[in-house]
Amino acid sequence: MQCPYCHVDDDRVIDSRSTDGGNVVRRRRQCNACRKRFTTYERAETETRLQVIKKDNKREPYDREKMRKGIQLACYKRPISVQQIDELINRVEESLFRRFEREVPAKAIGQEICRLLRQLDKVAYIRFASVYLQFKDIGELVNEAIEVQEEPDIPPGQQPLFDGA
Ligand SMILES: [Zn+2]
Repeated sequence: MQCPYCHVDDDRVIDSRSTDGGNVVRRRRQCNACRKRFTTYERAETETRLQVIKKDNKREPYDREKMRKGIQLACYKRPISVQQIDELINRVEESLFRRFEREVPAKAIGQEICRLLRQLDKVAYIRFASVYLQFKDIGELVNEAIEVQEEPDIPPGQQPLFDGA
């Protein structure tokens, strides 16, 4: 982004959050040249330009609906509302868009979904994780299931955001 003060195109994103139901992303940026801060509002189409790096190193455009399908499948017949799934996806996106500008490894998306789903619903988490974490064998999967069983459920609105980079 070009800095509105000194017009140098060199900045870093300090903070990034979705507004307007996830259609607009508000970013706080700091110019690396003059150190002034400015805010940009970017429509969702910018986000569709985010590329996902797949395991075979091929790239494909980030697809919110594809992610939703995977989560919905994991949540099949679980006491989870459409609204809760939406909130969860918003949290995942907030975290991803904050950490990745242009390309995001598919693994990072899977991990973030796992992290939030684990807090929301253990059965859904285990279903999702069994696909995305690719456990070595059934024993590893069972161990994970036993460990998760001990944890409390946390609604998406109360889940902490991932802050590490
Ligand atoms: Zn500047």
